Amino acid sequence: MNTCFIHSEKEALSICRGCGKTFCELCLDEGKEYYFCKNSECQELLKKELPSYKVSESVICTKCESELELSEEERIFGKIHCPECDAMIDYTEVPPKLLDREHYTEILSSLNQGDIALIKSILEDGKVDYYILGELFLSIRPLLEPVRVFVNENHVEKAKMLLENFDLNIFGISTK
Ligand SMILES: [Zn+2]
Ligand SMILES: [Zn+2]
Ligand SMILES: [Zn+2]
Repeated sequence: MNTCFIHSEKEALSICRGCGKTFCELCLDEGKEYYFCKNSECQELLKKELPSYKVSESVICTKCESELELSEEERIFGKIHCPECDAMIDYTEVPPKLLDREHYTEILSSLNQGDIALIKSILEDGKVDYYILGELFLSIRPLLEPVRVFVNENHVEKAKMLLENFDLNIFGISTK
């Protein structure tokens, strides 16, 4: 077994993206995509990997003025669905921008949390303007309702191309 560089008796969780050494879970911080150790140079890299913005813990819906409590993931993702009035708001914009849902097309839905995580990262890498409706952020329990992925109408073709190699049937996704 691979052991932690610092704790030789502990099993390694992963490698540090910065220095490439293996570490246990105590010694690693999780970035957006990679793990980083506590070494100060590696911590610098972690800071760069994390998004520069983060929405505050609670926001006011710009449409109905309900107060919305956000999870850590939602704060990073930034596009928030208001369960009260069904608005979709992009809090990464200043001031927050109400997304016109008419301009977004549903491209697929899935009950599989892992699929959704993968789809998110593919769309993000492709700089596709998208948002997700559903229990995206409850990663602990299985999904009760399918998560639905919406893409800006101008990016639908691009999104479909990006997801083309993704085996939709094996992953149990229904495409429209
Ligand atoms: Zn490191
Ligand atoms: Zn360790
Ligand atoms: Zn609202």
